[in-house]
Amino acid sequence: MGNRLLAIDPPKCGCTECIVGEYRPFDEASAFELTLMLDGFLADHTGLPRQQIIARTDQLTAGSIPAR
Ligand SMILES: [Zn+2]
Repeated sequence: MGNRLLAIDPPKCGCTECIVGEYRPFDEASAFELTLMLDGFLADHTGLPRQQIIARTDQLTAGSIPAR
C-alpha cells in the first residue's frame, strides 16, 4: 500500500507515476486535489498558469454543488 498522491501532472499525462497513482493528470484531478496543489501540499507539474488552475477548480466546485 501507500501510493500517496504527490503531484499533479499535465493533462492527459500517462507516465508511470500517474499510472500507479503517485501523480494525477490535471484533467483527472478533483477540485480537492487541485486545491491541495494550489495550497502547496502537492507539487505542481502541470506547467499551466495559476489562473487556469483556479478557473478549473472553480468549474469543478460549481459542478458538484446543485445550482439554485
Ligand atoms: Zn504523469
